[in-house]
Amino acid sequence: MTATPVSIGRRRPDVESAETGSGPLVDGFGRVHRDLRISLTDRCSLRCTYCMPEQGMEWLARSSILTLDEIERVARVAAASGITTLRLTGGEPLLRPDIVEVVARLSRIVGVDGERLHVAMTTNGIRLAALLPALVDAGLSRLNVSIDTIDRERFAALTRRDRLADVLEGIEAARASRLRPLKLNAVAMRGVNDDELVDLVAFAIAHDAQLRFIEQMPLDAGHTWDRASMVTREEILTALSARWELVPVPGRGGAPAERWTLAGTADGDGRPYTVGVIASVTAPFCGDCDRLRLTADGQLRNCLFSTSEYDLLPVLRGADPSDAAIDAVLRACIRGKLPGHAIDDPGFLQPSRGMNAIGG
Ligand code: SAM
Ligand code: SF4
Repeated sequence: MTATPVSIGRRRPDVESAETGSGPLVDGFGRVHRDLRISLTDRCSLRCTYCMPEQGMEWLARSSILTLDEIERVARVAAASGITTLRLTGGEPLLRPDIVEVVARLSRIVGVDGERLHVAMTTNGIRLAALLPALVDAGLSRLNVSIDTIDRERFAALTRRDRLADVLEGIEAARASRLRPLKLNAVAMRGVNDDELVDLVAFAIAHDAQLRFIEQMPLDAGHTWDRASMVTREEILTALSARWELVPVPGRGGAPAERWTLAGTADGDGRPYTVGVIASVTAPFCGDCDRLRLTADGQLRNCLFSTSEYDLLPVLRGADPSDAAIDAVLRACIRGKLPGHAIDDPGFLQPSRGMNAIGG
């Protein structure tokens, strides 16, 4: 493994060390980890330009993809150490043939607080209309659907697939479901959808959903990200302020999105709708990060931007696949977590995996 050089933050000597092998997953900077993001596959039904190349993708070896038994095992060990939320992602999680069973098995896991884990999903919405009733019955508790544009031609150019109608059908199914809060994710991109930000929020409101804009991050498999041309948090807020008065929502906690209520809007309960911005680049929230990631091929990652991974495959498939051995890898991963992603450092290195293989 290689270590990423960083220059921000300081180790806190006053917190319980994750090296003890028991108790919560606390890193060297006092961050308690409660959220495990599980990538179920690196495959996808779309080819979003900011995530995957059009062609020439090197897929993970099928033999290395974790089975449901293996995923459940890791999730149980993580739950015993204080993880309370599992977010299923990818690639496209709905491409996994056993997705309903994945949700059913994971949502039966009970955490240290005696409550069942929350099982959430981030999806591009394709196949969602067909699968959502079974997913809800299986125990899915929260849903994020990604949609960057509601213009068919733009969608086809951005995702390299003419599938907007399928996504809209999925979002309509989500609106009709009881999963709330329903969130829609949109990556803001200059010259692509930056003239559509107000329309996207209006679309979300019409579907009883909260829009969350994401600053584009250097995680595309093609390594084409350009800091100078990305749409920033400030630009997003300026565009939305022309249409709504934005009132900050306090109490963000470890959530990646900063939120604002949209004055003058009201949902079925009379509460104003909110909009969120995930400003990972211009306003990083690393200091409150409580997330850990498991890739589809069994690598634990302590950051989206990490260049180090902690390999669970030899443990899960080796001679001693004990819970203690899995826990030891989890804790090594937590111990290795750096204070921040350091995108702005001159020495920043983009991870070799694209977002589809990391799990967003
Ligand atoms: N396929 C599913 C989807 O698109 O929702 C789940 C996986 S996708 C990697 C998860 C989220 O990451 C999506 O909302 C997507 O827009 C976001 N994403 C992917 N690449 C990104 C990038 N370079 N910068 C910011 N967000 C990105
Ligand atoms: Fe697929 Fe999601 Fe990546 Fe788009 S962002 S290519 S839908 S994994």
